[in-house]
Amino acid sequence: QHRVRVESLGERMTLGAAELKHLQVLRLRPGDTVQVFDGQGAAGEAELTQLDAFGAALTLRGRSEISREYPQPVTLATALLKGDKLADVVRAGTELGAATFQLLNTRYADVPQIGDNKLARLRRVAEEAAKQSQRTVVPQVLAPLPLAQFRPEGQVFYAHPGSPAQLLQAVTWQAPLTLVSGPEGGFSPKDLAQLEKLGAQAVTLGPRILRAETAPLALLGALASSGM
Ligand code: SAM
Repeated sequence: QHRVRVESLGERMTLGAAELKHLQVLRLRPGDTVQVFDGQGAAGEAELTQLDAFGAALTLRGRSEISREYPQPVTLATALLKGDKLADVVRAGTELGAATFQLLNTRYADVPQIGDNKLARLRRVAEEAAKQSQRTVVPQVLAPLPLAQFRPEGQVFYAHPGSPAQLLQAVTWQAPLTLVSGPEGGFSPKDLAQLEKLGAQAVTLGPRILRAETAPLALLGALASSGM
């Protein structure tokens, strides 16, 4: 069944231009049923009651109680990466349940900055991936922040080669979770000192060296494979 994002779930819902076009392309008709979600955790089933040149309207038939979210919100804080690698991380990271992506400027950055267009594209990638993976939450993609200005809440872990600790043994699910992964050149001594200052714990991803776009997905993969 088709999934449609609405501004908020209510008895009668109207759609924005992008979703209207999407329904027209799919050749849906009044009377068809679609899944609706607001991107912030609410979802349900709705009937398409109007679809014409003037717009589209939906009537809510029932709310869904299914949650596909972790017990606590998970933020993936990842260093800026080159080319399409960030889009790949956001796409797969959304499937793997991240609630927020925080892009980070680290000392050994692969690229110094990303433009507004790229940020907008990453947000579209997150929305598409949320629909595809049947999430009710569309993850936020936050503009890059220098590591020195990053103030994560709850439990914070960073992937660092050679660390003895294991993520799943340390996660309590009693507080929001933040997972940090570094750039291709790794974390600098200053980055590491900053992470220590934040109370972040270093964790291993095994004895192999993963690429900077693989490591964040391995962190999230560990959570997902625990069945949460
Ligand atoms: N020479 C760099 C170093 O020693 O940190 C390698 C960096 S690695 C290509 C990119 C990032 O992926 C690292 O900063 C780290 O966050 C993560 N990473 C890769 N392999 C890892 C492993 N086996 N254990 C923990 N983190 C890893």
